[in-house]
Amino acid sequence: MIIKENILLSDHTTIKLGGAAKYFIECDTEESVKEALEFAKEKNCKVQTLSGGSNIIFADHGFDGVILKINIKGVSVKKDKDDFFIYSGAGENWDEFVKYCIENELTGAECLSGIPGSVGATPVQNVGAYGQEVSGIIYSLKAIERESFETRNFRNEDCRFAYRESIFKSAYKDKYIITEVVFKMKKNSEPEINYPELKKYIDSHKEYSGLSAGKEKLNFIRNAVISLRKKKSMVIDADDPNTISCGSFFTNPVLSVSEFETFKIKTEALNLLTPYYTTSDKDKIKIPAAWLVEQSGFVKGYKTKGAGISANHSLAIINLGGKTADTLSLSEEIIKSVKEKFGIMLIPEPVIVK
Ligand SMILES: Cc1cc2nc3c(=O)[nH]c(=O)nc-3n(C[C@H](O)[C@H](O)[C@H](O)COP(=O)(O)OP(=O)(O)OC[C@H]3O[C@@H](n4cnc5c(N)ncnc54)[C@H](O)[C@@H]3O)c2cc1C
Repeated sequence: MIIKENILLSDHTTIKLGGAAKYFIECDTEESVKEALEFAKEKNCKVQTLSGGSNIIFADHGFDGVILKINIKGVSVKKDKDDFFIYSGAGENWDEFVKYCIENELTGAECLSGIPGSVGATPVQNVGAYGQEVSGIIYSLKAIERESFETRNFRNEDCRFAYRESIFKSAYKDKYIITEVVFKMKKNSEPEINYPELKKYIDSHKEYSGLSAGKEKLNFIRNAVISLRKKKSMVIDADDPNTISCGSFFTNPVLSVSEFETFKIKTEALNLLTPYYTTSDKDKIKIPAAWLVEQSGFVKGYKTKGAGISANHSLAIINLGGKTADTLSLSEEIIKSVKEKFGIMLIPEPVIVK
């Protein structure tokens, strides 16, 4: 275990924000996670788990404790009849993992291509995009309890997955460190395409229907998703300043039927069409956060002190060489404006470490 001190967190986050961490420990085994937790206990320090740094924002004053960077590697596959169980270390790169699944003709992760970060962080907010959520393929996971250092297995149903939610963001927030995720997938099954934008793209490429169900179709979908994401600066690219972000800064609000009626009255009074998506729960209606942000005056390319809105995606707050305070102040301004105009409270998606 190598303990580093005074490490700039802006170098470890995709939004390039955050002051120095007092201690910074990279853990590449379960044992080293436990040793690092022991070290934090001895020093009486608080602990923050960090992986790819693509959904986290640290304060300008840094972190006065121990950063545990999860770097546990290794992927292996076990077959049971028609099912394939893929065991991945939490520190594996997510997009490399998706590529590995496609190369091995495993279906279910292809629409999640191009998302930055690690395998171990995907269950935390139930990563999702283009009609797929990681909860659809997670079989179980292994995690270390931060107080007792005990290892516990969670089955899919124990994780309480929902839209951008899991038990690791709610009841067990900061209580467990995920060390391994087990995925259950099928080989060569026909990929499902539900997301309208992706469906339109596939429908406009007639050659798709002639491809075989395995690697060919999966690769086609992967390339389609990456190309759609790139247009929105949703794939990290050192040459694209619009990717200096945490991706979408706000989740799409989910309203009850009566909340939706109140929202509709407001939009109609403003002579606006009411945008919404239905969900699997007929009593819940999802509102596109990007629309709320834009309609409240924060359009693509908006700039303010040190932060702005991506020129290619109105939900992404980008760092324009400023401080965490600038990004958070823009976020607060957006939340206040949306609340005043539409009565809806936006919830930030990234984890903000104060
Ligand atoms: C350009 C861009 C596009 C994005 N697109 C999407 C998208 O389409 N869909 C989507 O859902 N997200 C998206 N994101 C957000 C982000 O990539 C995901 O949430 C990702 O899973 C975060 O992984 P990470 O390893 O970077 O986690 P980090 O940012 O390092 O951590 C995020 C949170 O998870 C916790 N955590 C991390 N690893 C572990 C672990 N092993 N055990 C326990 N807790 C842990 C951290 O403590 C923190 O609370 C995007 C981000 C960017 C920058």
